[in-house]
Amino acid sequence: MNRPERRQAAKRKTPEPVSLLDALLDQRITGGCQDCDAYQDVTRVDGIYRITISHDATCPWLNAREGVDRGARRTP
Ligand SMILES: [Zn+2]
Repeated sequence: MNRPERRQAAKRKTPEPVSLLDALLDQRITGGCQDCDAYQDVTRVDGIYRITISHDATCPWLNAREGVDRGARRTP
């Protein structure tokens, strides 16, 4: 078998890449925050994956983060 034949054979054996994120599309995944019962949703728009973490309304991390964001917006 010469080099071109080996290359062609190698190409045929290469499986289609499977993205882990493709497997998670439209699935609700529990977790994502150590401070509450958060869950994550994976979506894909125009080839870009987006993972959205939804926290409980009482999440201390989220409440602290929103406090930081509010403070940042007030700063000129
Ligand atoms: Zn949380």
